[in-house]
Amino acid sequence: MTHSDVETLKADSDHLRGTLSTELADDTAAFSGAATTLLKFHGIYQQDDRDRRRELARAKAELDYSCMVRCSVPGGILTRDQWFEIDRLADEVADGRLRITTRQGVQFHFVHKGDLHQLVSSLNRGLVTTYAACGDVVRNVMVTSAPEQGRDLERLDRFAGALSRRFRPRSNAYWELWVDGERAVTGEEAPGGDAEPIYGDAYLPRKFKIGVAWPGDNSVDVYSHDVGLVLVPGPDGTPGAVVLAGGGLGRSHTDDTTFPWLAEPLAWVSDADAGDVVQAIVEVFRDEGDRSDRSHARLKYLVAEHGIGWLREQVEMRLGRRLADPIAIPEWGGPRDHLGWHRQDDGRWYLGVPVPTGRLEDTEHMQRRTAVRRVLERHAAEIRLTPHQDLLLCGIDTADRDAVEAILAEHAVPLARHLSLTVLSSMACPALPTCGQALGEAERILPELTDLIDGLLRARGVDDVRIETRVTGCPNGCARPYVAELGIVGRTKTAYDVFVGGDAVGTRLASLLVESVPLTKLGDVLGPLLDRYRDERAEGEGFGNWADRLGTSALAADLPDVASRRRARVAAS
Ligand code: SF4
Repeated sequence: MTHSDVETLKADSDHLRGTLSTELADDTAAFSGAATTLLKFHGIYQQDDRDRRRELARAKAELDYSCMVRCSVPGGILTRDQWFEIDRLADEVADGRLRITTRQGVQFHFVHKGDLHQLVSSLNRGLVTTYAACGDVVRNVMVTSAPEQGRDLERLDRFAGALSRRFRPRSNAYWELWVDGERAVTGEEAPGGDAEPIYGDAYLPRKFKIGVAWPGDNSVDVYSHDVGLVLVPGPDGTPGAVVLAGGGLGRSHTDDTTFPWLAEPLAWVSDADAGDVVQAIVEVFRDEGDRSDRSHARLKYLVAEHGIGWLREQVEMRLGRRLADPIAIPEWGGPRDHLGWHRQDDGRWYLGVPVPTGRLEDTEHMQRRTAVRRVLERHAAEIRLTPHQDLLLCGIDTADRDAVEAILAEHAVPLARHLSLTVLSSMACPALPTCGQALGEAERILPELTDLIDGLLRARGVDDVRIETRVTGCPNGCARPYVAELGIVGRTKTAYDVFVGGDAVGTRLASLLVESVPLTKLGDVLGPLLDRYRDERAEGEGFGNWADRLGTSALAADLPDVASRRRARVAAS
């Protein structure tokens, strides 16, 4: 489908209805291309099993279609009952597995077309929505929602809820299709008709991402969003936020005009004004974003082309008033996970449980899903999902801590103290076999990669080093590899680009070091790099800062010629 076809389809879709109702009722295994595009706004991606694609195509058989269904979970905050419903449905209509996403959502994979209605309708009855989890709209709003002591949790939760409600599409199509018109079961506001006051008939040119960060904790990677809010009070102590704008990480291997970009400071706003200012930015993107080329349809290209000053003028024009200048953002602390035991303000505790690649399942060797369910049934008040794909079991009494650990141990679920720093600091996107965009593996090779890095660190006597590592199956960057210290990005089924030099707190872009390294040769690149890091780092200098200080040209010059192509350059230049 061409770029303009997508625009026409959205505008002519009768507000996200298209042929979905008819196609949901028929007995075919797959949706049409047009319906597939509209389904995304409902939180559903149709995919086919990439492991079987070639074999089926050769046999001239229909591809093995199923759907990924993504729940939108503002701030990653879920009640016990919401989690129980999600957990139950994983067995009933999916493949028994859940995946915590890098945007604090939850995904079901391998859901068949005939089961979609049951899944989405049950989720809504459990007060969980999939609406706008995908599509050309504002996506799930991310918030640093870990209930650390000293944080104004109510305020953070309010930001997550208010921004999500403001930008959720208004069309009744979602409720008609999935919950038989009963919008009330979702806890949403009363219907206001189909008009889309923010989006208009053609919705946005593409997706739009918002992240809200508590100062000092950049777990949401706030610079990677179209709009980031860092909650910093104004000079007179008024509660408010520094607004960052124009971040985005997706790029293409074949189009040098695409690039990752960090959001830049735009203004300071009070809490009361934040929603209006963010809406004005969304409206600028709606009206000025590139609707002729989806690979350039992101706010970051407007900012890169016209400058942040231009965006500010556009926003001020829409608001009819001047914005206050941005103020300084306090230094970020690290690391960016919330694992282990932490005290909450109310005296209770939360436990951050590592979930490598966000995959929650029960296997013969480890029953993570069951363990989480048991802890929630007996000891924890709620669950919070982190941008690092881990989960926080919250509201645990001091007296229950041992019992919680016993449940996890009984189901062979490791805690942070049982895992290596490399495992704890790594993320991967789903990639093959489910993602239609994947060029190579990510989630399935992560254990192999973390073993490799752990072995290399151990052999060099530096296994106390934590390297923020992100792996993706394509350059779209869903696991945010370009703000990591080490980013490994799929180029083909067997070869990866290696990026280095982001910092441990996500404020600097990594740079491309080597292109097209065969998976089997990654150790030949990483080994010499780690040799130099061990020998040349300054006291306390992290891997990313060290790599950035030396520069990719100097680092690449010393590497063995293992790549099918090699090029060192600054990724964002
Ligand atoms: Fe798919 Fe690419 Fe995103 Fe990975 S980064 S989930 S391969 S689109």
